[in-house]
Amino acid sequence: ADIIGNADNAGHTTIPLPRDLFQPERVNSRGIEFGERAALNRLVADVATKQTLTLTVKHSAPEDVDRIVSLARDGFPSWSRTPAAMRAAALERAADLLEQRSAHFIALLQREGGKTLDDSVSEVREAADFCRYYAAQGRKLFDNAQPMPGPTGERNTLRLRGRGVFAAISPWNFPLAIFTGQITAALMAGNTVAAKPAEQTPQIAAEAVRLLHEAGIPETALHLIQGDGPIGAALVAHRDIAGVVFTGSTVVARSINRSLAAKDGPIVPLIAETGGINAMIADATALPEQVADDVVTSAFRSAGQRCSALRLLFVQDDVADRMIEMIAGAARELRIGDPSDPATHVGPVIDREAKQQLDAHIARMTREGRVRFAGQAPASGNFVAPHIFELADARQLSEEVFGPILHVVRYRASGLDAVLQAIDDSGYGLTLGIHSRIDDTIEVIVDRLQVGNVYVNRNMIGAVVGVQPFGGHGLSGTGPKAGGPNYLTRFATEQTVTVNT
Ligand code: NAP
Repeated sequence: ADIIGNADNAGHTTIPLPRDLFQPERVNSRGIEFGERAALNRLVADVATKQTLTLTVKHSAPEDVDRIVSLARDGFPSWSRTPAAMRAAALERAADLLEQRSAHFIALLQREGGKTLDDSVSEVREAADFCRYYAAQGRKLFDNAQPMPGPTGERNTLRLRGRGVFAAISPWNFPLAIFTGQITAALMAGNTVAAKPAEQTPQIAAEAVRLLHEAGIPETALHLIQGDGPIGAALVAHRDIAGVVFTGSTVVARSINRSLAAKDGPIVPLIAETGGINAMIADATALPEQVADDVVTSAFRSAGQRCSALRLLFVQDDVADRMIEMIAGAARELRIGDPSDPATHVGPVIDREAKQQLDAHIARMTREGRVRFAGQAPASGNFVAPHIFELADARQLSEEVFGPILHVVRYRASGLDAVLQAIDDSGYGLTLGIHSRIDDTIEVIVDRLQVGNVYVNRNMIGAVVGVQPFGGHGLSGTGPKAGGPNYLTRFATEQTVTVNT
């Protein structure tokens, strides 16, 4: 059976991958070092055809959570005392292994995650980047205590230490990069980790954990818990969890927050990165061709299944019709279908449930808005074609819609303030796009909105580790930003030592 276009394999049928199929192709932070694209695709296809779909991933039971967290707690003293340079070296080895086995992970991302070739390549690269970046940050932050000022006769130092067992709970939409990023940050900071991936992508998680162990992370320091939402909830509620890093929906982040608040014992920090109703503002000075290109990339790449994806486009009314027509024209060129075909731009959505929800939203928008573009998706499989709806009011979209559906609202030049108010009122603050040639307008918008990542005159997806630290405010998350210089410290406690000399 082929699972492309049908990731409804949640925790049951997945793909065993014999190690001799690994290929020494390379991806790194400066870009893809794959030779030619077609050659890469042949390699990935070759790996994929040798995979068979027989392995069963066992879901953990609630009682397993207790056993696994206890093992992680027992592993903490030794791992937290392992010199930071050694912890960093293990992460760097993991990055090397990811690069060497990129074809293997690309094939897996395509088959289990339904990802296109471009998305799969970027994801392997991002996972390796997280390993290297956190290793580099960790060497600076954790190896030596920082001297602090003090009077004569007193020596003050500040050092960072791990907190204990971190629960790392991740989504299916970046099943390798986010999963690896959360784990490596927590480990680098000296914590041990119990990681629960999304139930839709268990095999990628299992392979990533195997790779991290092989790279030198002790089995006592990193533990995998496969399972669904209730297993995640049991993990969060466990008495020995010292911190939680979560990426996923706002509603689940809230429920984790409530669960942590209700626990007896120490106050447990939560790092949550969630969704958004991400907006782009295009005024009459924007270059229409560039807007069309950037809107299509931002709204429809990865079938719109990115937390950063564009959901709501505000276009100045003088140019609105022309721009919408150009965007629809560009969307018409997209190829929707099998993600293992390198010509495909838009693959399937993650599972049948996601497709049903998106189809229901399309039906509602068709009734309540004006259809400006409706793409054609293959009849079988979990495909949702890109759609563009024009709405009279931004408030018609009150929740994140996680798929290839773009909503457009026109505004008058004198109404920019109301646009900014509408964006603010949503309560989210993840990404924002601006297309304008007027510096003052750009400055006013950037200054006014509390949004984590702003992209001016370009597309608004694909933040690069260490270059565009990523994460939002309000309903979009707690910060700190993943892939940024302040991330690791939030996984640690600080200890000040004052010595009377
Ligand atoms: P989700 O439904 O919130 O699930 C995320 C993870 O939480 C999964 O592992 C899930 O397990 C688990 N979970 C579910 N209920 C739980 C509970 N009560 N307690 C503890 N864990 C629980 O999100 P998703 O559908 O996987 O991912 C899409 C969402 O992630 C979107 O909202 C997107 O915007 C967001 N996202 C944000 C970022 C960012 O950096 N800001 C990045 C990527 C994605 P199951 O899979 O078994 O339900």
